[in-house]
Amino acid sequence: MPTLVTGGAGFLGSHLCERLVKQGEEVICLDNFFTGRRSNVSHLLDYRNFEILRHDVVDPFKVEVNRIYNLACPASPIHYQYNPIKTVKTSVMGAINCLGLAKRVGATILQASTSEIYGDPEVHPQPESYRGNVNPIGLRSCYDEGKRCAETLFFDYYRENQVDIRVIRIFNTYGPQMTPDDGRVVSNFIVQAIKGENLTLYGDGSQTRSFCYVDDMIDGMMGIMEQDESVGPVNLGNPNEFTIRQLAEAVLQKVDTGSKIVEESLPADDPTQRKPDIGLARKLMDWEPKVQLTEGLDRTIPYFRDIIQS
Ligand code: NAD
Ligand code: UDP
Repeated sequence: MPTLVTGGAGFLGSHLCERLVKQGEEVICLDNFFTGRRSNVSHLLDYRNFEILRHDVVDPFKVEVNRIYNLACPASPIHYQYNPIKTVKTSVMGAINCLGLAKRVGATILQASTSEIYGDPEVHPQPESYRGNVNPIGLRSCYDEGKRCAETLFFDYYRENQVDIRVIRIFNTYGPQMTPDDGRVVSNFIVQAIKGENLTLYGDGSQTRSFCYVDDMIDGMMGIMEQDESVGPVNLGNPNEFTIRQLAEAVLQKVDTGSKIVEESLPADDPTQRKPDIGLARKLMDWEPKVQLTEGLDRTIPYFRDIIQS
């Protein structure tokens, strides 16, 4: 029976589809191509065990599958704030449609939730038990509250209908296959440095994030799907924490085209700190991020160089 990956043409989804296809699974990639691109997965069309379905998760759908990875949702602030009502619909109605499908066909279903569940956290690092500090009416709420409601739905379907769920909370992940106009910080800084443009540091750059390389994230995601000790939520991310200024400096050390760092205004509700407590993920599947920031940047920069130069 196939595996369904919603949002499968996006950054994480395309890596996941590739891994599943190459290990011989039948994969259905469902996407509305809002932020995803056909070119992220077009190389997989040569495989007989891969197919693409253009569809919006807001509308119900039926497929016979035994695993569902629900990744459909724009993840970059500029994209999820572009049409905030649609973002809420994608998270909430998308979750209802995917959970309804999982219930009907008896599939195990994994939700790609987010560290944004914790908002601007007052507990540091963040364990799964922390309930968060989210502004319910701010610019980021469409994403944060949409994802929080999706988690609620997952646990209600689990309690009421015994749907076999997994919930992961993903912390900032980067790597090849991000679009140059994605808008998230790692891709922005690398693209700006390659083009010799100034690096746009929002605020004074003292806010922190913990950056996970995509291969580690996909290992963690698939590991949680395949274990059955916990339904989650489980934090997945790299606990090494950096200020955003440190990230800008690290990129400039690797791409020296004379770019400077310029400070721009900090967006509203920008979290001041973020670092996952990954104790649960370690315990459940003996998982540990292997690729640290400097190596991850070395693997990501050539990808952006190639697409910018071509
Ligand atoms: P992305 O924007 O590259 O991918 C999202 C994909 O979902 C795209 O292919 C997009 O076209 C598709 N999509 C959006 N709305 C849809 C809809 N209504 N119907 C069908 N498809 C739709 O982002 P990503 O970084 O690959 O994120 C994937 C998932 O992981 C998202 O759910 C995101 O919230 C979650 N996540 C990612 C990160 C990260 O750092 N990358 C962090 C936390 C959570
Ligand atoms: N950021 C920045 N310059 C950019 C893009 C982002 O300084 O060009 C900052 C942003 O304000 C935030 C951090 O980098 O503090 C991470 O932003 P991103 O959008 O990647 O992810 P999120 O805020 O959702 O963690």
